[in-house]
Amino acid sequence: VQGVRKQAVAVLAALVAPGLSGCRAPAARPAVDPMLAVNTLLPAPEDFAARRIEAGAYPLPRYAHFLAGVRICLDPGHGGDASRRGYKRGPTGVREAEVNLRVAKYLREFLSRAGAEVVLTRQDDCDVSYEQRAAIANDWPADLFISIHHNAVENRPQANHTTVWYHADVDYRPSNLDLARYLCEALHDMLGLPELAPVPLKSDQLMYPEGFAVLRHVQVTAALTEASFFSNPDEEQRLRDPEYNLREAYALFCGLARYAFAGLPRVRSLALGGQQLVAELDDGLRGRRSWGWERQMILSDSIVVRVDGQRVPHTFENEGYVLTAVLPEQLQPGLHTVEIQFQNMFKNSVINPVARIEVSF
Ligand SMILES: [Zn+2]
Repeated sequence: VQGVRKQAVAVLAALVAPGLSGCRAPAARPAVDPMLAVNTLLPAPEDFAARRIEAGAYPLPRYAHFLAGVRICLDPGHGGDASRRGYKRGPTGVREAEVNLRVAKYLREFLSRAGAEVVLTRQDDCDVSYEQRAAIANDWPADLFISIHHNAVENRPQANHTTVWYHADVDYRPSNLDLARYLCEALHDMLGLPELAPVPLKSDQLMYPEGFAVLRHVQVTAALTEASFFSNPDEEQRLRDPEYNLREAYALFCGLARYAFAGLPRVRSLALGGQQLVAELDDGLRGRRSWGWERQMILSDSIVVRVDGQRVPHTFENEGYVLTAVLPEQLQPGLHTVEIQFQNMFKNSVINPVARIEVSF
């Protein structure tokens, strides 16, 4: 027995010897270029968010249940771009695409707990065209679309503040400003960044004459968030941390919950009767049957009806929440655009104000 064991030890030694033989330098391997690296965030287990939500620092606010049934499309910006050296990366190589995706997934976890319906435009590190991203929201159709990004600037590493972008000008879609404002205020409250943009809601036409491609193609209520700057060296390191990503997701979640709590006004139905257009309005509040629900919760002077961009006269009846508008007399047969705008008592605007109608007479 002794002899056999000795033999076995000898064989083992022979097997492991090459790896143990002294201080040989490891074979020269090319160092990983941090500007081409993937998985640039600190690792986090799959259930990182799930285990923390509703525990300790991340309670669901009481009003979060007003998000139940709201359809929200989350768009993690960029993806599939790691081979473009240095593209959308912080000073040590943290990739914006990875931060955006993690924040979106954590936000989905919060929203799902509150009963919202959530769709992501991408689930992994892949490239999705702007048109495809918008189509996912438009075809569903989503109620709200949020494109999640982070900011960068050259030559000012200390820059670090929140910007939330809306498409075109302020009249383009007033509900876009509601969404942008709620998101921005919550990010301000919860991230506590060192800088504050004096006017943090910005038009995407400041960057490109046509605006951001993704916001240009989206037809539902939409905003694009840039919570902070990954070009700031301190912020870049925070953005690697799953706990910080979860905090940003929580901020976006709380902003959305407050927005929903204040009511998401909608045009419920639209019908043509002769020269008249009849619409049933929903202020997003009446259905809760709270004390005083029979009273009007739409600001009368905020109601505007446009057909093909032209204002037309209307009457509004509190009883059935029915809006009646008169079509222009010279309207030709065919497809026409109808826009119905109003604000509820929280000043939230209609999230689906535009419809197409077929006129056949
Ligand atoms: Zn971006």
